[in-house]
Amino acid sequence: PIYLDHHATTPLDPRVREAMLPYLDTFFGNAGSAEHRHGWRAQEAVEAARSKVAALIGARPAEVVFTSGATEANNLALMGSADAAGPHVITTGIEHASIVACAAERERRGDPVSILPVDREGRIDPAQVAAAIRPGTGLISISLANHEIGTIQPLAEIGILARQHGILFHVDATQAVGRIPVSMPALGADFLSLSAHKFHGPKGVGALVVTRPARRHLRPILFGGGQEHGFRPGTLPVPLIVGFGAAAAIAQAAMPEESLRLAMLRDRLLDRLAALPGLRVHGGTRFRLSGSLNIGWPGLVARDLIHLLRDDVAISSGSACGSAVLHPSPVLRAIGMTEEEALGGLRFGLGRFTTEAEVDRAAAAILRAAPLLRR
Ligand code: PLP
Repeated sequence: PIYLDHHATTPLDPRVREAMLPYLDTFFGNAGSAEHRHGWRAQEAVEAARSKVAALIGARPAEVVFTSGATEANNLALMGSADAAGPHVITTGIEHASIVACAAERERRGDPVSILPVDREGRIDPAQVAAAIRPGTGLISISLANHEIGTIQPLAEIGILARQHGILFHVDATQAVGRIPVSMPALGADFLSLSAHKFHGPKGVGALVVTRPARRHLRPILFGGGQEHGFRPGTLPVPLIVGFGAAAAIAQAAMPEESLRLAMLRDRLLDRLAALPGLRVHGGTRFRLSGSLNIGWPGLVARDLIHLLRDDVAISSGSACGSAVLHPSPVLRAIGMTEEEALGGLRFGLGRFTTEAEVDRAAAAILRAAPLLRR
């Protein structure tokens, strides 16, 4: 099937694979072995990758803490800052499951949590963040780009607010990194989560980037050896980290052209699909990732269409984590859609290797199938 689910994950770039291969066998050393060449070689590779990852987000290499992915990075940010800052957490109603679950766990442990609403485009209003700040607010956690509707948030304004009030600011940039320019200093973020597999790197590796001044407000959630400044103990997965670095460098170089190409393909897809009357675009069109499109038709249940098209097109009705059961996307509900409307949300995510021909074939398949299912 034509793969149009790049929010869930992306295929490995062949260049990333090439970069990783030597570290799967020839250079198998432990990056923590300081006493021999095997270790040095691995350590050099890790540090080179660290620099590439840092460069992609305008951070310093020493600020990168490698993790198993963004879920772990989010856990480290939300659970690891639990005792250091004030107890009150501010987040939004459209966050990824890993943020939702960490916020719920903080609440269960007795910390107050404010979940802010978003508008029909999925945008958070900085004024609402300002209004939610109170004595004891310790952490604001907001994603830069949404994983279902692609909405990009006005985070720089919120970063300024956080700074003014001495509140830690965590940005889950997992969907944004590699797709739009991300600068940690420009966002004013203290902590930033990212994951390699969202931009054609390998699965199972990501990072929490922790600015130098914010370091003293973070405590580890795992305990062991002193790796990653003690924030993330455990032997580093050298091949994955090398792949992460390669993917970061490629994304950084490809981004300007790629984002334009994806926007054109996305508009082409929308244009084709609009041939079936009643199409609605969910979330806004003004502040959106260029490869993202979330749509629906009245009376069409997304799950039915996705199932019918399973041999032709791989799309989804929401985030991969919650897909096992039929429930309306909390993101679509949060932007004001009814339960029935939300069950109609079809998420398309285009990526580096998506072609015009694929977009046309996918649209044609959908246009054939959708009328059969509309109630
Ligand atoms: N945050 C966002 C916004 C995501 O889209 C994802 C995707 O799965 C994650 C976090 C989790 O990332 P990972 O798969 O690396 O755990």
